[in-house]
Amino acid sequence: MKALTLTPADKSLHIEDRPEPKIESPNQVMLKVLEVGICGTDREEAEGQRGTPPPGKQSLVIGHEMLGEVVAVGESVTKVKKGDLAVFSVRRGCNACPACNNNRFDMCYTGNYRERGIKDEDGYQQQFVVDEEAYIIPINQDMRPFAVLSEPMSVVEKAIDLLITLQRARLPDWEQKGTDLSGRKALIAGLGPIGLLAAIIFRLRGAEVYGMDVVDDNSLRPTLFKKLGGTYIDGRKTDLSTFQKKCSRLDLILEAAGVPTLDFHLLEALGINGAYVLTGVAADHKSVTIDGGTLMERLVMNNQVMVGSVNAAPYHWDMGAKDLEEAGKRWGDVLSSLITQRLPVDHYKEAMESHASDEIKSVLTWDGQG
Ligand SMILES: [Zn+2]
Ligand SMILES: [Zn+2]
Repeated sequence: MKALTLTPADKSLHIEDRPEPKIESPNQVMLKVLEVGICGTDREEAEGQRGTPPPGKQSLVIGHEMLGEVVAVGESVTKVKKGDLAVFSVRRGCNACPACNNNRFDMCYTGNYRERGIKDEDGYQQQFVVDEEAYIIPINQDMRPFAVLSEPMSVVEKAIDLLITLQRARLPDWEQKGTDLSGRKALIAGLGPIGLLAAIIFRLRGAEVYGMDVVDDNSLRPTLFKKLGGTYIDGRKTDLSTFQKKCSRLDLILEAAGVPTLDFHLLEALGINGAYVLTGVAADHKSVTIDGGTLMERLVMNNQVMVGSVNAAPYHWDMGAKDLEEAGKRWGDVLSSLITQRLPVDHYKEAMESHASDEIKSVLTWDGQG
C-alpha cells in the first residue's frame, strides 16, 4: 500500500510502498483512510523542524488529522463495526506517569509520550491503519464532509473546557451555569482553523464572540466567522483600548494566532476575573517588550488567569464529535467551507506548500487509491 513518508535526515517527503497493517489482537480496529488534514505541524515536519520516526526507522509516515472507514474489527471490539466512519486519536501515553496512567496523555509529565505522525509512531497519511479500540472515536455518517476536522476540534474543546473549568472553580455565578456561556463575551485571536472551530464551540454554548485577525473584512475567514454570528475586528485598524471600551467586561480570550507581540498585549482587553488560554506556538522567538509591572498588576488586581493548553483528553474527542455534529445542523455550509482545498495524495507537494491567503484547511484524500 501507499504511504506518505518523511525522511528527516534529508528533509524529504516521498510516497513509499509499505506493507499493509493487519489486525493482530482482538481489541484492534482497521481503518481505510479517507482523508487527512494538513496543519502547521505537518509543514514544520516537511521543513525538517520536527517529526521523529519510530525507534530504529529512517522514515516516518506523516499525518495526524484523519478520517477513516472501518474495514475490519477484532473479536472483542464493540464501539464500531465495518462500514462505520471513525477517527483515531493522536497521542499515546508514556506508561510511566500519573497523568498517562489515568488516560490523560495530553497532560503527560515525562514528555515521553508518542504521537502518531509526529513523534515515534507512524501517522495516518497511508491507505490503511490499525490501532486499539481505546483510541477510536466513532463518527456519524452525516459528518462526512467535515469530520476530518475532528482532531483540531478536540484541541479547541480542551482549551475551552479548561477556561470554563477554571471559571467554575472560582466564580459563583459561573458555577451555577455549568457550560452555558450565554451572557459571556469571548475574544478569539487568529481566525484560522483553530480560531474558527473555537467560534463554533463558543456560539454553541451561547457566548457573544469577537474575532481578531489581520485580513480584510470581506475575505473568507471573517466572512465565515460572521456567518457564525461573530463580530470581526481588523487588528490593523483597531487599538485595544478602543476595543475594550466597545466590549466592556471581556470574560474569555482564546489565542490561536501564535504572535507574541499581539498575544501578550491582548491581556489589556481582558475584563475583571477574566481567563485567557493560549493555544498557538510562535513561529519566531524574538523578544517582546512588555511592561512587566503593569502586566503583574493587571493579573493580580483583576484576578485574571492566563494558561496554556495542548492536545486533548479522550473526553474532549467525544465532546468534539458531538459538537461537530450539532454544528453541522446549524452551520453545515460554514463547516464544509473550512476545508478550502482537497487534493489527491499524489499532489502532496502542492498541498504542503500552498499558503493562499484564503486558505483555511488543506486536506489530502486517500479515497480511491488502489
Ligand atoms: Zn494538526
Ligand atoms: Zn506520561
